[in-house]
Amino acid sequence: MKITSAEFIISNSDVQKCPNEPLPEYAFIGRSNVGKSSLINMLTGQKKLAKTSSKPGKTQLINHFKINQNWFLVDLPGYGYAKVSKSTKAVFQKFITEYFEKREQLVCAFVLIDIRLEAQKIDLEFINYLGESGVPFCIIFTKADKIGKVKAQQNIAAYRKKVLANGWEEMPQHFVTSSLDNFGKDEVLTFIDDVNKQ
Ligand code: GDP
Repeated sequence: MKITSAEFIISNSDVQKCPNEPLPEYAFIGRSNVGKSSLINMLTGQKKLAKTSSKPGKTQLINHFKINQNWFLVDLPGYGYAKVSKSTKAVFQKFITEYFEKREQLVCAFVLIDIRLEAQKIDLEFINYLGESGVPFCIIFTKADKIGKVKAQQNIAAYRKKVLANGWEEMPQHFVTSSLDNFGKDEVLTFIDDVNKQ
């Protein structure tokens, strides 16, 4: 699929106020700085559609973009941890969990993971949350240009082990991308196109 139009529609923190057109939508989420804005800009071929972290004051909202007039790309806020007494607790803002639990148009979530890092507890918790909530998702490993191909495969194999140790029977479908050189762009867009055609 080639993206010929990508149009910002609305930002909000209330799932009820998301567009009510019955178009399939694909949500992108991950820890802050994982490369989500860069990936969205790469996929849509627009340099500034999603804001990148070099710009301060990024809003923490659900952002809907209409693509090719027939599906929505949804840019969700990055997630993080809150300190709760001595333990750390993963926090996924309430409107985010509401989005995943209530949004009927959601076809697939893409969970972004920095390919350089060891599996992070918060990402594994989030993946488990999606699984328990019955939300279909794929993993997108980002920033592949920062490491070699061999190391990338090693890191993915290590990630797979962690995911299986975390109760999954198999590694979820995954993609490897680099926003620097468009690596993985066709694979992700072809996946979306194929799902839209089903
Ligand atoms: P976000 O906070 O998840 O939206 O992350 P951004 O897209 O703003 O990216 C965070 C930082 O990582 C920025 O400095 C980007 O230039 C850099 N970055 C993002 N994607 C890539 C990538 O694929 N390759 C490289 N080398 N850097 C990247």
